Amino acid sequence: MADSLLDSQGRPLKRCSWCSAPVRWVTMVPSGRKNPLDPEPRSDGNVVLEAHNDSLAKALKRFEAHDGPRFVSHWSSCPEAWRRRGLPKPAGSAP
Ligand SMILES: [Zn+2]
Repeated sequence: MADSLLDSQGRPLKRCSWCSAPVRWVTMVPSGRKNPLDPEPRSDGNVVLEAHNDSLAKALKRFEAHDGPRFVSHWSSCPEAWRRRGLPKPAGSAP
């Protein structure tokens, strides 16, 4: 794919291999796992970027306060995430 997607700050985005939505890959701290985030912040997000390095992110604890933008993992919003998890196809979803 030759498209070069950018987020609102000009950072490169990738596309979800399942649903083709734009996602921003970050490395979770401290686990080191790669995690795709939805590029637009959400008020109910539970993932925040590290101030010193926005390719790193951490999950907020429940009710933990945070003053910056919050993001959600794309795996929680991806309509195709059931594929990745190896779950049976949800009843009633499109083919
Ligand atoms: Zn997706």
